[in-house]
Amino acid sequence: THFGYKTVKADDKQKMVADVFHSVAGKYDLMNDVMSFGVHRLWKRYTIEMSGVRTGNRVLDIAGGTGDLSYAFAKRVGPEGQVVLADINASMLQVGRDRLADRGIAGNLEVVQANAEALPFADNEFDVVTIAFGLRNVTHKDIALADMYRVLKPGGRLLVLEFSKPTHNLLNKAYDFYSFKALPIMGRLITQDADSYQYLAESIRKHPDQETLKNLMTDAGFDRVTYHNLTGGIVALHRGVKA
Ligand code: SAM
Repeated sequence: THFGYKTVKADDKQKMVADVFHSVAGKYDLMNDVMSFGVHRLWKRYTIEMSGVRTGNRVLDIAGGTGDLSYAFAKRVGPEGQVVLADINASMLQVGRDRLADRGIAGNLEVVQANAEALPFADNEFDVVTIAFGLRNVTHKDIALADMYRVLKPGGRLLVLEFSKPTHNLLNKAYDFYSFKALPIMGRLITQDADSYQYLAESIRKHPDQETLKNLMTDAGFDRVTYHNLTGGIVALHRGVKA
């Protein structure tokens, strides 16, 4: 079946996103490596570096899915620190939980099912908040960003890693072809689910570009908002500070 995503109302978007991630959870990690040729690992490593995370910090990984960032953060913050892996989707969290347990992370990592638009945490709790490839799935980005601001400590940093707008026209065209033609085919071969990857391509296209997201973060209250293009702007890392 086709999602008819072009006509979905905001209220239905959350349900559609839930269906997509329930459907792909078991194959999610494999697909990430295949689709990005493994480069998502470098984008995530860069995010960790730019967060300025230190031993003993408290980190919140929103839309953390199967836990790539959470796992890396848990090693960085050590036993005195804490990492919360939060995601709205129980299937993704289940895969994440199993994976992290397999790797022997336990003490300093907590798993919480939560919507980015209504975070179940007190004000000023975290040194670092991250959302990687998650914000484009969130229906009300302004509400979510304001809530991320709220749970950060003064001086805390938000890092948003997300698909963005390639900086060169030719790259943009090649990338369009790749994501609309090749991606759904690979998705169907690996997950038997082309629709989910069609949604992915479409959601990437609709996501705010670098400057628009920068303005959204500033509007939510963040200070000193900057971004870095990665892989020619296919992905951008935005960073903002709570003053
Ligand atoms: N951060 C992980 C990574 O980079 O590999 C997972 C990214 S995955 C593409 C997007 C995740 O966003 C999914 O696990 C999905 O369940 C989650 N998500 C979608 N909408 C959400 C919301 N409103 N609140 C929290 N998580 C959400």
